[in-house]
Amino acid sequence: MQSDDDIAKILIVDDYRENILALDGMLARPGIEILSAPSGVDALRLVLKHDFAVILMDVLMPSMDGFETASLIRTREASKHTPIIFLTAAGSDVDMVYRGYAVGAVDYLVKPLNPDVVTAKVAVFVDLFRKSRRIHRQEEALRAAERERGEAALKESDALYEASFNAAAVGIALTAADGRWLRMNPRFCQITGYSREEALELRFQDITHPDDVASEVAAFKQLIAREIDTYHREKRYLHKEGHTVWVDLTVSLLRDPAGRPKHFINVVEDITERRRAEERQRLLAGASQILLRSLDRRATLDDVAQLAVGSLCDWCMIATTTGGDNPGYEVAIVHADPTLKSTTREFRQRVLGVPNLAEILAKNQPQTTADFAALAADSWKLDYQGWETLHRLGAGPAMVVPLSMREQVLGQIVLVAGSTPRKFGSRDLETAQDLAQRVSLGVENARLYHQAQEAVRARDEFLSIASHELRTPLTPLHIHFQRLLRKRTGDLEIAPQQLRRVLERCERQVRRLEALIDNLLDVSRISSGRLRLETETVDLVEVVQDVAGRFAEELSAAGCQLQLQSDATVQGEWDRLRLEQVVTNILGNAIKYGCGKPIEITVEKTSAGGRLRIQDYGIGINGEDLNRIFRRFQRAVSSRSYGGLGLGLYITRQIVDAHNGTIRVESQPGVGSVFVVELPRVLQNHAPSDSESGSHRTTVTKNGSRPHASN
Ligand code: ADP
Repeated sequence: MQSDDDIAKILIVDDYRENILALDGMLARPGIEILSAPSGVDALRLVLKHDFAVILMDVLMPSMDGFETASLIRTREASKHTPIIFLTAAGSDVDMVYRGYAVGAVDYLVKPLNPDVVTAKVAVFVDLFRKSRRIHRQEEALRAAERERGEAALKESDALYEASFNAAAVGIALTAADGRWLRMNPRFCQITGYSREEALELRFQDITHPDDVASEVAAFKQLIAREIDTYHREKRYLHKEGHTVWVDLTVSLLRDPAGRPKHFINVVEDITERRRAEERQRLLAGASQILLRSLDRRATLDDVAQLAVGSLCDWCMIATTTGGDNPGYEVAIVHADPTLKSTTREFRQRVLGVPNLAEILAKNQPQTTADFAALAADSWKLDYQGWETLHRLGAGPAMVVPLSMREQVLGQIVLVAGSTPRKFGSRDLETAQDLAQRVSLGVENARLYHQAQEAVRARDEFLSIASHELRTPLTPLHIHFQRLLRKRTGDLEIAPQQLRRVLERCERQVRRLEALIDNLLDVSRISSGRLRLETETVDLVEVVQDVAGRFAEELSAAGCQLQLQSDATVQGEWDRLRLEQVVTNILGNAIKYGCGKPIEITVEKTSAGGRLRIQDYGIGINGEDLNRIFRRFQRAVSSRSYGGLGLGLYITRQIVDAHNGTIRVESQPGVGSVFVVELPRVLQNHAPSDSESGSHRTTVTKNGSRPHASN
């Protein structure tokens, strides 16, 4: 079956209708469609509409002859190659034939026409037409198939590109030359926190950290100028929620076929975690270095706080307790904003004045909070100005981490994000704890160093006082002996009474020396746990009377009057010699520091045992010294005004402690002092009795001390 496409059209152009009919008769057959035109103009009209296999055209026609018509047919692209067979009368000259070929004739048929010749010639062109049309169709089909394949491949690659773009683990975004975002993948939106719609309203400058914009614009210009092919750097975006996001960025420029810049392709990888980890490492290493470098606690804490402010928070406070004789607090506060320096100083003063600072610092649980002001409101007893100052510093999310060493709380680090919107996560808290550990170690080192320094200073002072004290009795001894020797060599008689007086004075100095050496030995015994009590039934009244008797000369030399009030007996199981020492030390001090005023001693029974009270009206003691005078080598007077080793009260307290008793002092400078010793009648927890002497033995250990003052 023949399709419409197989039909070949033949055009017959002749002004004689009979000629057309004759040709139609010769050529008509299935698969051939014959169209005819009576003139050249009609022929041209049909050529515009149809594609002919062959045109049979009479040469001689009125108005437009065959040659003219043929040359016009040839001017049209679609009919440029349509075969034209001229119909000529017999006997046409050569010129005419030549003209025909010049305008594109392919053949001539001479009238009268021979049907066989006509059909044979036309059949050749029809066949040619059909074949070339078939080839053309095949070409078309091939091209169409090719096109389809190309389109499918393009579609596939588009889909692949789309899928990779959307599922990429890195952020990809296109920007226009003016910085507007044109397109971005979901990961990019995730990194910056902006939705596609929101990002499309922005330029890259709007979400780039202000410090990074200029250098990036410069790089874009270099890309446009073809100075560089790609551009790679680490930069900061500002997340929609306000915090900084560190990214590793690679930018390249896409140009159109004419080489004009089309858009920038930004490939972005989130490296915030890595940068934070690096910052954390830097912070901790820096802190260790600072802490190792210096033992000046205040300066060190300031430096560490400064470091933390650079990488972890907007402002940092490190508060520590200071040990030593006057326990207090050290507070360092540093803010990232240098214009708030005076506010930080003010807040530091406020913190130092907080009445419950000890209680706040004693909290030993690390914690994070979204609102430091709210956390502080729960525990900080700040005054109005304090709160106002805190708000000026900014009190947003914070971490509060204790400083501690060997279970002992040393203080606290507070790291606050004042104005920067940021959340503190578990990694941040770990870093803060790590930092706190290093600071604790540094603080403890500084404390031990100062303690060691203090001990060395106290030892040196003691050695100088001790040598002075030991020398003091030696000088009069030396003078007495010299005098005696001079008299002996001069063979002068010494009256026995005079000799006795001199010897008594010598003996007093020897006793003084002995007492000093005994004190030193006692300290050494207490330190090594070798102070032992030999207990027996002792009457405290008797002990006090004995000691007072021995002080008769000193009392009169000092001009002190002694009043003793006591029960008849106050007995207990005690160490007599040690109790004598207690009374000697307290009474000796009362005479030494008593300014020649009366001294009152009371000895009385109590339900538990006995009480000794020695009151003087002398120089008295400052409130802040009351605690420390019971410690070793501690003195509250200048060594130039008063001799002494600062050991008497220390030994006294150790002896009283060993008896399970208590000692306390009440005093006012310029008014006088009263020392009160309470002793239980029987020593509890004492060591097994010494069978031979029938006495009890107790050892005072180095750490066996108990509170020295109680009621
Ligand atoms: P010292 O050898 O210095 O007297 P003590 O241990 O006996 O040593 O006393 C320690 C310090 O306590 C003295 O240096 C002095 O400052 C103070 N002190 C002790 N007793 C009295 C007192 N009765 N009046 C005033 N100060 C006293």
